[in-house]
Amino acid sequence: MSPSSPDSLNNTLAANWMPFTANRQFKAAPRLLVSAKDMHYTTDDGRQVLDGISGMWCVNAGHGRASITEAIRAQAGMLDYATAFQMGHPRAFELAARLTALLPGDLDHVFFADSGSEAVDTALKIALAWHAARGEPDRTRFIGRERAYHGSGFGGMSVGGIEANRSQFGSRLGGIDHLPHTHDPVRNGFSRGQPAHGVEFADALEPLIARHGAGAIAAVIVEPMAGSTGVLVPPKGYLERLRAICDAHGILLIFDEVITGFGRLGASFAAEKFAVQPDMMTLAKGLTNGAVPMSAIAVRAGIYDALMTGPVHRVELFHGYTYSAHPLACAAGLATLDLYRDEGLFERAAARAPYFQEALHSLKGSPHVTDIPQYRPCRCGGAGAQGRRTGNEGLRCFSRLFRRGYAGAPDRRYGGVVATADHKRSADRSIGRDPS
Ligand code: PLP
Repeated sequence: MSPSSPDSLNNTLAANWMPFTANRQFKAAPRLLVSAKDMHYTTDDGRQVLDGISGMWCVNAGHGRASITEAIRAQAGMLDYATAFQMGHPRAFELAARLTALLPGDLDHVFFADSGSEAVDTALKIALAWHAARGEPDRTRFIGRERAYHGSGFGGMSVGGIEANRSQFGSRLGGIDHLPHTHDPVRNGFSRGQPAHGVEFADALEPLIARHGAGAIAAVIVEPMAGSTGVLVPPKGYLERLRAICDAHGILLIFDEVITGFGRLGASFAAEKFAVQPDMMTLAKGLTNGAVPMSAIAVRAGIYDALMTGPVHRVELFHGYTYSAHPLACAAGLATLDLYRDEGLFERAAARAPYFQEALHSLKGSPHVTDIPQYRPCRCGGAGAQGRRTGNEGLRCFSRLFRRGYAGAPDRRYGGVVATADHKRSADRSIGRDPS
């Protein structure tokens, strides 16, 4: 049997249990990507597919960037792996310093992990450890938000607000409540930028505090702009109000910037764009331009210091990963930060935003499109077209677009979110314009 015959391909496909994928459906009609350059994938049958969602919201500077590839190659030749427990390597410290210089406000220490899910679980654990270190060990509850995605670990799944991601798995973390989501198409449909209505969605925090007592709540975690269930842009004043309520009750505010970080909103981070300072921030994806898995948890001044107590030989946080601050990831991260700076990518994203806004809003009135929540949708931006129907509509649309050379992001749970425009040609393609 030749290696490329259909039978051999089917055998090859069988063993891989694919994540968040309808495995049987996929394996009956596979979509295989064999290479990528700039904004295009090449499929196994030689077709070019425009990557409309920058990988999985992570390839912020485009695929196959030579300086990142070279940095990884050089690092692999010099130090392929080094444990981060009780040892270190220079690039880990360099990347942490570069990140803290870029992060808004007084986020002055970072802890490295390998995925957004790990970053979220780490942030939740740091919140608990910090409260305990300050003498408030009873602050153990967390508050997430409906329609939030915070990864697939038990922590992230539990504070996340997507029922389909939880229903198979029985028990989850206890002591968790959810705020209402902020998507309000009746009042805010087809808004451009931050919707005018909905600051009061943040007030739902007050009854939760009243029910449990502020002294029981460790942290509130939100995506400043939700991504996975359809680009839910925070209404004007909403994040500010969350911040104020958390401040009034000694509750930590965690921004999950796994998607929104590194220029996606036309600024370094959403916290900067919306001018609201979180106490902790989770980062991943664009941190290495998607080239090597890596995530980071940034904490505000004082959080690290509060844990640096007791005898100096004592481990201050019993937490970490084999691949924390992996040398290849650090090399990729440093090269990526150089690229963002040297090419002015965050600024370019902001400058192109109006074009994308117009392109996306030209979809208004098209069949099934009931809303276009978007914010700064350009090279580093996102937009979701909400379909009226639920179920497979999003996946069907995604498959059809893929056959026509466009890769977007399907969602089965919230009415078929499909389009996520990432750069000019992708916006043109997604709205059926000739991408000249
Ligand atoms: N948090 C947010 C906001 C995300 O969008 C994601 C993934 O899309 C995650 C966490 C989980 O990241 P990972 O898939 O790297 O574990």
